[in-house]
Amino acid sequence: MSSLNDYIKFTLDIEDQNINGKIYKIYLAELIQPACPYCRSTNLKHNGHYVSNVRFITADASKPVTIRLRKQRVLCNDCLKRSMSQSNLVNKYYHISNVSKPKVLSALTEGRSMTSIARAHNLSVNTVQRVLTSCSAKFYDDFDRFLAFGEFKGVGKKLHFICLDGDTHKVVQILRTRFKPDILRYFYKFTPKARSMVKTVTMDLNCYYPLVARELFPNAQIVIDRFHMVQMLTRSFNSLRVQIMKQFKKQSLEYKLLKSPWKLYLMKYDKLNKTTPYYDWLFKDYLTQEHVVLDGLECNKTLENTYWIMQDFMTAIQNKDEKQIIHFHLLNSKQTVGKQMHQTLLTFKHNYTGVLNGISSNYSNGCLEGINRKIKQIERTACGYNNFSHLLIRIRLEENIVKEKEPNNYFLVA
Ligand SMILES: [Zn+2]
Repeated sequence: MSSLNDYIKFTLDIEDQNINGKIYKIYLAELIQPACPYCRSTNLKHNGHYVSNVRFITADASKPVTIRLRKQRVLCNDCLKRSMSQSNLVNKYYHISNVSKPKVLSALTEGRSMTSIARAHNLSVNTVQRVLTSCSAKFYDDFDRFLAFGEFKGVGKKLHFICLDGDTHKVVQILRTRFKPDILRYFYKFTPKARSMVKTVTMDLNCYYPLVARELFPNAQIVIDRFHMVQMLTRSFNSLRVQIMKQFKKQSLEYKLLKSPWKLYLMKYDKLNKTTPYYDWLFKDYLTQEHVVLDGLECNKTLENTYWIMQDFMTAIQNKDEKQIIHFHLLNSKQTVGKQMHQTLLTFKHNYTGVLNGISSNYSNGCLEGINRKIKQIERTACGYNNFSHLLIRIRLEENIVKEKEPNNYFLVA
């Protein structure tokens, strides 16, 4: 900005070092009052002006446009009432032009920070915030037969509960906390009939979500999210792999086999290359991907068992074949598996029907993860939010449902 400042001082011959300038385009305008708004009389006595500097929209943000509007004030000679001229350019007592507001609102849906919007539209951040709060933070608040439960990290690093409609993928509601009483209180607002219509509730393996769902939706099936299951399985396998890897020396073949090709273990066994060997510089031999994996598994029996359980589960999930789980008694396997995998299987057993539904059902928490990613992006651009309702409005605007808080207060975006 200093070069611009020097330029201004140079062109205007200003030598004072304490003056700092910015280039503005100022248009002078007068708003006249043709008749008395109370009695329609034109017999008026002029009584000075009220000057308001209206911030106007501009294409070039480096040269903000201001309209210095002189509003005529009159005294009516017939009814003796005073009045000031008004225009639809700017509302009474406001200094922002009405055309700026929809522009700000549409910019707010673009995932930009409020500071950048304020700078581009020649406004203060507070004004942008005020435009934001003029929108309602209320959600869709209506649900059909399929629901998805989840949570995300928001204001003050606290977890908020989020519920989505499984079909339309619209946000039903976001609650400030994810505690059981709050969820119950929210859903008890709906009639028992509306709640009994719910057919499935998808969720991750949070310990009390199934309890909540069973209490609220008597006819609903609980569906554990299949992506979450895969994540739990791969994490359990990885932790065991690392644990076993550390038992070997760093120079040993076993260590190398378990370390660098870690991605191969997480691939589906059917997808591994079993036919064309390639020369591996690390192992100094011609190997296929299958060779590497099988050699690695030979290091430890527990690791091998864990690997095959993970693979069987992943195949069942891929084929949506819950019978495979029942048929092979995967959950009641007597083989020794890693500690964490044992824990995972216990959790699955605890939510047995939910897990089976998750494998066979078409519904998952995929839509919810999509929304969560969007929310994370919103929070990152703003460097976090302090105000919960501001965050909610931003999420709603990203969803592109612009709803006014009060009628006739502001504007609508098409
Ligand atoms: Zn009058």
